[in-house]
Amino acid sequence: MDEKPAKRIAAFIEPLRVEPGSRVDLAKDFDARYKARSLTKKHGVELLGATTALLADHQARLAAQDTYGVLVCLQALDAGGKDGTIRHVMSGVNPQGVKVSSFKVPSAEELGHDYLWRYARRLPARGEIGIFNRSHYEEVLVVRVHPENLDRQRLPPSAKAESVWDRRFREINDWEHYLSDNGFKVVKIFLNVSKEEQRKRFLKRIDVPEKNWKFSASDVRERRYWDDYQRAFSEMLSATSTRWAPWYVIPADRKWFARLCAGAVLVHTLIDIAPQYPTVGARKRKELLDVRRQLEDEWSPSLSSGRPSPSVSS
Ligand code: AMP
Ligand code: MG
Repeated sequence: MDEKPAKRIAAFIEPLRVEPGSRVDLAKDFDARYKARSLTKKHGVELLGATTALLADHQARLAAQDTYGVLVCLQALDAGGKDGTIRHVMSGVNPQGVKVSSFKVPSAEELGHDYLWRYARRLPARGEIGIFNRSHYEEVLVVRVHPENLDRQRLPPSAKAESVWDRRFREINDWEHYLSDNGFKVVKIFLNVSKEEQRKRFLKRIDVPEKNWKFSASDVRERRYWDDYQRAFSEMLSATSTRWAPWYVIPADRKWFARLCAGAVLVHTLIDIAPQYPTVGARKRKELLDVRRQLEDEWSPSLSSGRPSPSVSS
């Protein structure tokens, strides 16, 4: 593709990437209200349109090439904008090539397995983009903030000997490294919403009847654990942003800006893969040309001005 948009996109998302090995303090290092200085909402929405067009083109190539897959992990606190981001960023992409999986409180069957089992079952195939709406990162977030979740996982005593969280960070990094080495790019997006913006969005969910279904009293209870979550997110970002699967922290107080950033991160990943339509060899090309000639020689209604073909008996 043209080098210019690719470079511009790379430069646009660079400040959002968590440098592997760096220590993140979410509150200090990332501003949820940030947006690129000169960018207006109108221009941002237009750019998202251009981004989704690029995405659709690359997704078609990814599917045709059938060699690489992409896994997008989307994490946020409640009302962070995960659903809207998926809806807007993936609009215009062929639904056949995209698989969205949402992860809730684990079922009894899921709790009967190792903690990565349910995520592994939902991984994209080659040629596909898989989106995890919440992901295996819940295993070091909600499970850490509410340790009773860990008790439900019935780990053997030996698995609790060293720090469970340090071990999970290592295991997750190893798992993602394995996926990446085998052709599955993992890209991780954290929609970083401020406490005040979350409050406003909850109020809207109460005030607007069409949004009532989205409101859950438990989400508001979860707000009490805000600081614990900020700490868990900071540690997770520090420990699991890797060369092969980096984290992007996206300022999410402005929905339009968050969607543009998420789209840009995904497009950047696909541009990096540079998927190509498969080309055919000389033999296959000759076969295609032979068939083309046969098709051309066939009777066609457009050639016989509506008269029936001589081969059709009356
Ligand atoms: P929502 O995304 O609003 O439908 O909510 C899903 C809920 O499932 C959230 O409250 C998450 O914290 C919870 N959840 C997701 N994954 C896990 C997990 N591994 N263990 C416990 N709770 C989880
Ligand atoms: Mg919720």
